[in-house]
Amino acid sequence: SFKGKVAVVSGSTSGIGLGIAGALAARGAALTINGFGDPAEIEKIRQGLADTYGVEVAYDGADLSKPDQVRALVAAAEARFGRVDILVNNAGIQFVAPIEDFPAERWDAVIAINLSAVFHATAAALPGMKARNFGRIINIASAHGLVASANKAAYVAAKHGVVGLTKVTALETARTGITANAICPGWVLTPLVQKQIDAIAARDGITEPEARHKLLAEKQPSLDFATPEQIGELAAYLASDAAAQVRGASISIDGAWTAQ
Ligand code: NAD
Repeated sequence: SFKGKVAVVSGSTSGIGLGIAGALAARGAALTINGFGDPAEIEKIRQGLADTYGVEVAYDGADLSKPDQVRALVAAAEARFGRVDILVNNAGIQFVAPIEDFPAERWDAVIAINLSAVFHATAAALPGMKARNFGRIINIASAHGLVASANKAAYVAAKHGVVGLTKVTALETARTGITANAICPGWVLTPLVQKQIDAIAARDGITEPEARHKLLAEKQPSLDFATPEQIGELAAYLASDAAAQVRGASISIDGAWTAQ
């Protein structure tokens, strides 16, 4: 159980982050959730987690493209709850274009949110974790942290960067009670992926279910999506005492995408 533990999950108003927040709250962790969206919707999510699991849940609207706000997200959780034991760096965005057409502004945004925010949050959380000699840093990378796809230059570069940063974090904390690991999901049916399915349907003039199948068939041999709840269970394992010697690992949950 994570009773008495405090978690910060970035990008947890939707998708995978919300699945992870639920899995940690279900085990008794107090939480800060973060991300964008309609304020009333977000309050419903916050209250829902608190009521369902009987834990304290705070919302922080930090924009993770801004280094100061990333660091302030960790500082605010420490101020409110007295500690951050579990840091889940999950917020991420996608943009798809060939390199020569890739807008420099989109490159900068993807690198800032998907990679630099992981660095800033980790740097902000480590001093407190070291002082308490306990911490779990869980970075949501991707199959694209291990292999590439065309037209995803910024995302693939950022996710490979996250896998590398996770290894450095694990080495720098190797003799402490802090662990750092990366989760590498394949396709998970979230708003981020739904946009790509809709784009395929429009481009190829096919139905939404046909586009879904096409997206899966191209990369994911299981032909099925992983779910936010399944990613949440893996994160909960990595946060547990049982995972104390899982360090610097990149764990795939990708329907055999990267087995090929
Ligand atoms: P999503 O779009 O459903 O959720 C992304 C979350 O990040 C939302 O809460 C959003 O509000 C938040 N966010 C976006 N920009 C932000 C910013 N500037 N500041 C703060 N929060 C911000 O996406 P998802 O599919 O759940 O993705 C979550 C993570 O999982 C990402 O890092 C993504 O790269 C990774 N991932 C997703 C898949 C997939 O198939 N869905 C696969 C592998 C990895």
